[in-house]
Amino acid sequence: MPYVITEACIGVKDRACVDVCPVDCIYEGENQLFIHPDECIDCGACEPECPVTAIFPEEDVPQTLKSYIGLNAEVFKGPNPPGKPQR
Ligand code: SF4
Ligand code: SF4
Repeated sequence: MPYVITEACIGVKDRACVDVCPVDCIYEGENQLFIHPDECIDCGACEPECPVTAIFPEEDVPQTLKSYIGLNAEVFKGPNPPGKPQR
């Protein structure tokens, strides 16, 4: 079960999570960052780093934010997938 980035990242995008991810599976989209669900090793390192509590393990995503589980997966299959985070 991968970790998932949700709504609170939108407009913040401070990339604090990127710095601690051991497998570089956090990518940057236009409005928010996303975790690649097949690359995440479920280590949990990113979760406490997020200043706006945007990151949850998939099983703990709040009910109102469940759509972000699918979004973090689908966004990588689209024509314009998130890329390496800009620093
Ligand atoms: S849980 Fe670990 S592997 Fe997954 S995105 Fe966070 S830091 Fe990266
Ligand atoms: S730490 Fe949180 S707000 Fe910052 S880029 Fe990562 S998910 Fe977005």
